[in-house]
Amino acid sequence: MAPSVETIIQPDWAAQQEITLTVKRDDLLHPVISGNKWRKLKHALLPAIEANTKHIISFGGGFSNHLHALGYCCHTLNIRFTAIIRGDYSQNPSPMLLDLISWNTDILYVDRKTYQQRAEPNYLKLLQHQYPDALVIPEGGSQLQALQGVEEIIQELQSQYDYILAPVASGGTLAGLIQGATKDLKQHNCQVLGIGVLKGEGYLEQLVKDLLRNDTDTNNWQINHNYHFGGYAKSNYELTQFCHDFYQQTEIEIEPVYSGKLFFALQDLINKGFFPKKSRILALHTGGLQGAR
Ligand SMILES: *Cc1c(COP(=O)(O)O)cnc(C)c1O
Repeated sequence: MAPSVETIIQPDWAAQQEITLTVKRDDLLHPVISGNKWRKLKHALLPAIEANTKHIISFGGGFSNHLHALGYCCHTLNIRFTAIIRGDYSQNPSPMLLDLISWNTDILYVDRKTYQQRAEPNYLKLLQHQYPDALVIPEGGSQLQALQGVEEIIQELQSQYDYILAPVASGGTLAGLIQGATKDLKQHNCQVLGIGVLKGEGYLEQLVKDLLRNDTDTNNWQINHNYHFGGYAKSNYELTQFCHDFYQQTEIEIEPVYSGKLFFALQDLINKGFFPKKSRILALHTGGLQGAR
């Protein structure tokens, strides 16, 4: 895919302290596949195609952008796809699940307790035993290969930035941005700021650290936990109103699960004077609009 657009926006709340605000439009990378999910899947799927993989298994919730992106990829690549879903939506499938069904995905609804084991070695061993030919990809696609694809976001950047902001859920995107910025001379003094979209102080940092190479600079990043709005996919009137106003001002669509929290945080941090005068800020729009249907 061609590099995504890098575009300056000027909402009224950014018009202070000579701040320049740029958005990297990964939401526009592909009409079906959500931006950061493609970045994370690319270097897992290319070797899978090479190895003639016939079956892929992964995990997610009923609105998962990751399962949606992977389901679409498997459908177009003619690879069997099994989606293990947290909770039973069989009586009331979401638009995401209806898409998966239309792409001939095998859907397995599991209870929360089973789902909790999704990363445990014993459970994965059992799954692999049951499906010996399958490639198992973790929830959110956040595995080591994912970082390489995310680093390509940094390599594409036309300008130099002081801050790069992105939402954080399973950590792969932030880890890739951190590693990419560490390697890239142009972004050498850049701080990578994650906005936690779920209650995960300490936990999210650990997820990111587990993915980073040991020699990665650890002083160029942090995660802010003040904008999760009560937890994953939790929202309120203020946030949905903000998403609406943001669209009115910029003609860029955002949703309350990921990008809404990111831009809300950005607005609030600018208003509170968090960023020094003349900061050049890049916000990564990770896509995700399918999940908001
Ligand atoms: C999955 C997702 C994220 C979070 O990325 P992680 O790598 O899981 O931290 C952010 N934005 C969107 C739109 C997503 O679908």
